[in-house]
Amino acid sequence: MSKAHTAANTSTPANDTLGIRHTDVLIIGAGLAGLSTALALPQTLHVTILSKAALDVCSSHYAQGGIAASLDAKDCAADHIADTLIAGAGLCEAKNTTEILSSGEQAVQWLCEQGVPFTRLPKQHATAEKIATLNGFQHLHEEDLETAALQTSDLHLTKEGGHGCRRVAHADDATGRHIMEALVKKAQAASNITILPYHEAFHLLKNTDNHCQGAYVFSHDNQRTLTFYSRAVVLASGGLGQLFKRASAPNVCVGDGVMMAWQAGCRLANLEFIQFHPTGLALGDSSFLISEALRGEGGRLYCPQTGKRFMLEVDTRAELAPRDIVARAIAEQISINGLGYVHLDVSHLPAAFLRAHFPQIYQTLLDLGVDITTDPIPVAPTAHYSCGGVVTSANGLTDVIGLYAAGEVAYTGLHGANRLASNSLLECVVVGRLIAADIPRYLHATKKPDATSIYINSEQSIYDIWTPPMLADYQRITLPSPIEYQRHTNDHHNANVPTSTNNDIAGITTQLKALMTSHLGITRSAEQLEQALGQICQWQQQLGGRIFDHIDTKSQDHVISYYTLPYVQLTRQLQLAALIIQSAYQRHESRGGHYRQDYPNLASRPLTSVIEPPSLTAFATIDDIDTTAHITTADVQKQLHHL
Ligand SMILES: Cc1cc2nc3c(=O)[nH]c(=O)nc-3n(C[C@H](O)[C@H](O)[C@H](O)COP(=O)(O)OP(=O)(O)OC[C@H]3O[C@@H](n4cnc5c(N)ncnc54)[C@H](O)[C@@H]3O)c2cc1C
Repeated sequence: MSKAHTAANTSTPANDTLGIRHTDVLIIGAGLAGLSTALALPQTLHVTILSKAALDVCSSHYAQGGIAASLDAKDCAADHIADTLIAGAGLCEAKNTTEILSSGEQAVQWLCEQGVPFTRLPKQHATAEKIATLNGFQHLHEEDLETAALQTSDLHLTKEGGHGCRRVAHADDATGRHIMEALVKKAQAASNITILPYHEAFHLLKNTDNHCQGAYVFSHDNQRTLTFYSRAVVLASGGLGQLFKRASAPNVCVGDGVMMAWQAGCRLANLEFIQFHPTGLALGDSSFLISEALRGEGGRLYCPQTGKRFMLEVDTRAELAPRDIVARAIAEQISINGLGYVHLDVSHLPAAFLRAHFPQIYQTLLDLGVDITTDPIPVAPTAHYSCGGVVTSANGLTDVIGLYAAGEVAYTGLHGANRLASNSLLECVVVGRLIAADIPRYLHATKKPDATSIYINSEQSIYDIWTPPMLADYQRITLPSPIEYQRHTNDHHNANVPTSTNNDIAGITTQLKALMTSHLGITRSAEQLEQALGQICQWQQQLGGRIFDHIDTKSQDHVISYYTLPYVQLTRQLQLAALIIQSAYQRHESRGGHYRQDYPNLASRPLTSVIEPPSLTAFATIDDIDTTAHITTADVQKQLHHL
């Protein structure tokens, strides 16, 4: 590690007017993808991890069901791959899918070594009495950890929809929390890792050769913009579920990383494939999720009005059909019967088993007045997972040199048109570790004469050190010109779309979520999508039509204040929403998680939809930055006048 890149560099010097920080590797996001990358990097590199909010506010922490890998003696990677390809409905990238899923066992073993207390099979530890109570599984307690190193062959596995066998390793029904607690503890103890909660990245920096070398970051702690320079950047900023009103993900998940990468020059793929989880709790405003594992253990879905177990007529796999099929069937029951929810019933399963196997779900619902051992659970579909994202290779390389991406922000092609349950946690760990293995190679291949440039010796081509991700068959999504957008606004504004009469940022943000849920939900049509696009154009105009795809560093536009940040966030969310809608609009078929009423059939050829980045010339480069400039109150006031 060079002297210029020690941990001390991330602390704030006394006369730190410019807020400049240096680190070897900047990781944007402290979920499972970010922490897996950080912990697998060599300890000789200084790593800075940013988190937009507190460390436990991320989807990884909320994950319940578990992590899929072929761990059972009768299972194999080929079967896991086959099930994933079926769920992906023809759109999985076969090479990347094979590479990622073949590393499943090593990834889970690595998590065991990090101290994750997975639920284990009872044989070595539980008494016969305990086994009977727990119906065949036991949670690993700390005293067990002391006596035995956990092996993947020790783990209890559950079954989830679309999987041909028991394949999901879990820690009770709060797998994400247990995994994240173990990894956060490790990262906090590592001397080469600095974790900065409440630090929000809003723009990626590139040098004159277009290589990513850092980010502008708003520190919510100090209410100021900081500039982080790094030798490599890893985007691990999670998904975009919170663009929707009913969503399982926490509020940090609004697609910041997708937009930052796009604006920096990355392609985006398959944004229209939003996975709706069939069983979000439909009780008040709760965003709590009812894990698929409940259906895996025998949970049944009933229409509360007719009492019918409707999945029996929809699919031979009944409640364990892939998520898109179950979610659509539930939405149909809700629609035709004029209901707010359907019932998920597990009361026929032994009460002791439910209490022991699903302690979090049992207690959360009991606190809300529903005893799952006797009462049916009201459930409805909820926006849950983004199958698309920033195009990457299986080892996380994006289109921009020096920029890696992992986890839900990325599109590796593993999930195709519909994610197989519990494959996403696995992808975070596998790709995060592959990135960590690649970064030393990349840093070694590029020489670093100073903090702001990369030198490649004359015999080397940049493609020797950075191979951009390849896509097989794809369809380019065309984006309308501003004039066409204007026409859209005039033609389609109004009609059943919630409208905004003022440009109140909070108001538009709330209405955008409602619009996405009502117009880009489980079933879509050209008419709905046109209306939604028209409304978004109108909001964009209300906000002054100013889109933050060009940050002019010389005019100090990169100085974001507490007051201007919500404006930047909203304009970006509107732009991302428009890109998702364009992708949905231009996919003239129904496939996986994307269902078009006006195009109910599969197209003959499965094509990935790709959005190419806006002009590369529009971006700030490090050399543009006027490092002598001081940030004044007047600058911030000027920003406010834009509102
Ligand atoms: C309720 C729920 C249950 C789930 N259950 C399962 C399951 O059982 N199995 C499974 O495989 N998958 C499950 N998933 C999906 C899975 O949890 C996620 O896909 C996965 O955890 C994503 O991990 P990540 O590291 O990419 O992102 P996250 O864990 O969401 O982390 C994102 C991080 O990025 C940070 N961030 C975001 N924007 C910025 C910014 N601008 N600047 C700085 N930091 C930023 C956030 O603060 C956060 O630290 C579930 C998801 C939810 C919501």
